[in-house]
Amino acid sequence: MSYGLICAHCRAKVRIRSSLGEHLLLRTAYLQCTNEACGATYRAAFEITHTLSPSAMPNPAIQLPLAPSAMRRDAMRSLQGDDRQADLLDEIEEQEPQHTAGAA
Ligand SMILES: [Zn+2]
Repeated sequence: MSYGLICAHCRAKVRIRSSLGEHLLLRTAYLQCTNEACGATYRAAFEITHTLSPSAMPNPAIQLPLAPSAMRRDAMRSLQGDDRQADLLDEIEEQEPQHTAGAA
């Protein structure tokens, strides 16, 4: 599966070995370079930082800033013709089917 993350040293693809829900807005992932000659491993964080459009079912505990219009434009450009982000989220789900999201 291609999810767009590459090794910072050798530029080979990296895979998510495991991930942990730290918080509703933050997930920590442990990454491994797929190039056996390199062998680098990483810790990474995936954080929800802004609201692009508000939820119809808002959680009162979640207070996120509304993305400025320039950020929303960038997001729309990124979403058009690029499905790598969805693949990334699929990969995280596959690594840890048990959701451990805590209270906000
Ligand atoms: Zn590497």
